[in-house]
This record gives sequence, structure tokens and C-alpha cells, in this order.
Amino acid sequence: MICPFCRHDDSRVVDSRPVEEGTLIRRRRECTECGRRFTTSETSVLLIIKRSGATEPFSREKVIEGVRKACQGRPVNDDDLALLAQRVEETLRSDGQAEVEAQEVGMAILAPLRELDEVAYLRFASVYRNFASLEDFEGEIALLRAAPSKPVTPVTKQVTQPATNSVSINN
Ligand SMILES: [Zn+2]
Repeated sequence: MICPFCRHDDSRVVDSRPVEEGTLIRRRRECTECGRRFTTSETSVLLIIKRSGATEPFSREKVIEGVRKACQGRPVNDDDLALLAQRVEETLRSDGQAEVEAQEVGMAILAPLRELDEVAYLRFASVYRNFASLEDFEGEIALLRAAPSKPVTPVTKQVTQPATNSVSINN
């Protein structure tokens, strides 16, 4: 790991701790040349397979971007959106796959969005699931009425992937 201060290419780890349910490792490093300290984080890369077949790393920002439009004018703040994106990532990582279809990301958004705001959920679902008629909306609303959203269940413990090939400086 190159020192971000002096560009020296060697450093030693002085502290290492798992965060976010063990899906992320933070390391405190000390440059063996200038002695300054910096932090690295290490996580397994979750790849999203797009419809074209191309892959890109999962991004919480993209989830938030996608949901934000549906939340316009609704009582949903940035913290709510950040938490939703975190839950989506946890859901996707929880089945231990290193790659998931883009479609699964949309599916993973539906449940937490519904708990957050039912109007935003309906907007998002109408686009995501291609509602084509009033009947589609009526059917979905009937489902919402029949099964009111339940309180959030705690995320169960998950086994993380051993693959660790993403290292970034975030000091
Ligand atoms: Zn240095």
C-alpha cells in the first residue's frame, strides 16, 4: 500500500478491525518511511451484472439515486435513504453471491422502500415492475391494504466472502 503522504510503497498495519457486520475491514497503517498514519478499508467487491452483460461494482449511491425520484415530496430524508441503501447491500450480500443481476437490486429495494414510504414504494414499483394500467395499481394497492408493512426485522448474521480485492484509502 503506497503511503498517501510520501508515496513510499511500504507500510505496516498497526490496527485492524471489522465493521458493518464484518463485511468491511478497516486497517490503520503506518508508513515505514515518514511514519505518518492512514486508514485503508477492505471489502469484497459485489458485482452487478447489467442487462447488457457488463458488470459494475455495486454502489449505494446508485441505489439512492434510483430511489430518490420516487421519494420526491415525501417525508423521506437523506439518512433514511442511506439506511435503505445499506439494507439493500446487506440483503444482496447475505446470500453469499459475489455477483448479482441488476434485477435483484431492484427486488432488494422494494421491501425496505415499502417500510419507508408506501407512496414512494408504489411509484418505484410502477416503474420497476412496468405497471401498464390502472388495474396494476389497484392490484398493488389492494396488496398493500391486505398486508400492512411490518416493523423492520433485524438483519441476520451473515457469512462474508473471503474474496478481498478492493483496497481504498479513506482517511
Ligand atoms: Zn510516508
